Amino acid sequence: MGESALEKKLLLKKESAWTKFSEQERKMAFTMGDNYKVFLDAVKTEREAVKEIIKRAKAKGFEDIAKSKELSYGDKVYFVFKEKAVALIVIGKEGLETGLNVTGAHIDSPRLDLKPTPLYEDSSLALFKTRPYGGVKYYQWANVPLALHGVIVKKDGTKIDFVIGENEKDPVFVIGDLLPHLSRKQDAERKAKDTLKGEELNVIVGGIPIDDKDAKQKVKLAVMNILNTSHGLIEEDLASAEIEVVPATKAKDVGFDRSMIGSYGQDDRSCAFSQLNAIMGVQKPKRTCLALFVDKEEIGSTGNTGAQSFILENIVREIISRSKNKDYSAVKIALQNSKALSADVTAGVNPTFKDAHDEKNAIYIGHGIAIDPLVKTGASAEYLGEIRKLWNDKKVPWQIGELGKIDLGGGGTVAMFFSKYGLDIIDAGIPLISMHSPFEISSKADIFSAYKAYLVFLSS
Ligand SMILES: [Zn+2]
Repeated sequence: MGESALEKKLLLKKESAWTKFSEQERKMAFTMGDNYKVFLDAVKTEREAVKEIIKRAKAKGFEDIAKSKELSYGDKVYFVFKEKAVALIVIGKEGLETGLNVTGAHIDSPRLDLKPTPLYEDSSLALFKTRPYGGVKYYQWANVPLALHGVIVKKDGTKIDFVIGENEKDPVFVIGDLLPHLSRKQDAERKAKDTLKGEELNVIVGGIPIDDKDAKQKVKLAVMNILNTSHGLIEEDLASAEIEVVPATKAKDVGFDRSMIGSYGQDDRSCAFSQLNAIMGVQKPKRTCLALFVDKEEIGSTGNTGAQSFILENIVREIISRSKNKDYSAVKIALQNSKALSADVTAGVNPTFKDAHDEKNAIYIGHGIAIDPLVKTGASAEYLGEIRKLWNDKKVPWQIGELGKIDLGGGGTVAMFFSKYGLDIIDAGIPLISMHSPFEISSKADIFSAYKAYLVFLSS
């Protein structure tokens, strides 16, 4: 039995986006999913995301705004900031003072960072001390093959890229766990969240002592010696470094039907990928389009590359400085008249833990891009109405709901920092299962829906 005519007319239906897609759209969702896996494997840090985004944008005709003279209708440029944040811009027909269409995603993900002096020796092993970045359930990071990604500025001031653990023949690193045979005390005394404690996130990195009879810490010295031979490093170099410890695993299809993707870093690189594809598809828009990729969301959007900085203002100022009409007083007016989507992930229902959600307002993976209207900013009925009409008219599968039950916690997004300009903004992003884990799960239907949603929004 299907639904009654009156039900169809009056009631909001929650259904899979897959059933709404045409055969052609299904194919596109799968093709985009393959491309997304390539993106995820290439991008495990915010710096790598910036590089990959610029590489892809350049191939679609975007040029460095720093090198462009005067901008005109239809021009495509990118703005890069400190190698950790980037914006893609397509100049619209209307003047900036009428506002921009902005989407904002973040390209940092939860991870472990090496401490300033990470290397030590214990029980004939060499290890790295780490510090969690963002919301990390510590125990999830034990027994997972780990890679090291980052940059190091050496004693002489030269900067090197440092990546180990991704190539087939590379070694990986690991945080050791306690075997079940000996964990009776741990089981009895620790709550789940303390199964592994912050100071126990120690990564094993070596085990052969150096052949140097006078050396005290022979295994530590041996590891340092390897790093000196391969990269010319001394221990002090690690003090001026940003080394991120991330899962060494690759993105994979999930399910017999291959409808999902499992990978590290999908918060928020899933929305970053969808918004990247969207802005690359924008042609001669009415309003100037801006896709912003920022850093530091996972630790509160702080820092000079996060959404709390003046990056949005600075980008608009940069556009004005290359426009015919150099009216810098227009920056705040332009932002106030802008419309924005905060492209950030949300929690999809995990059937095993349904209890964490209000079922009547839950979000499901595979049901399309998810609007969460109330996250910290409280979107207006007018703006919600506008976005809803736009997506309905263009047949974008979307859903609306909330991250989880009121009393269980919650999260913030870049929306709360951009809304201070007075622009309209709502959170609209891709739902994930196992968010913040080393292997988060998304649906290809949602990656594709988000791409379509951002594209019609930017082009509107
Ligand atoms: Zn997050």
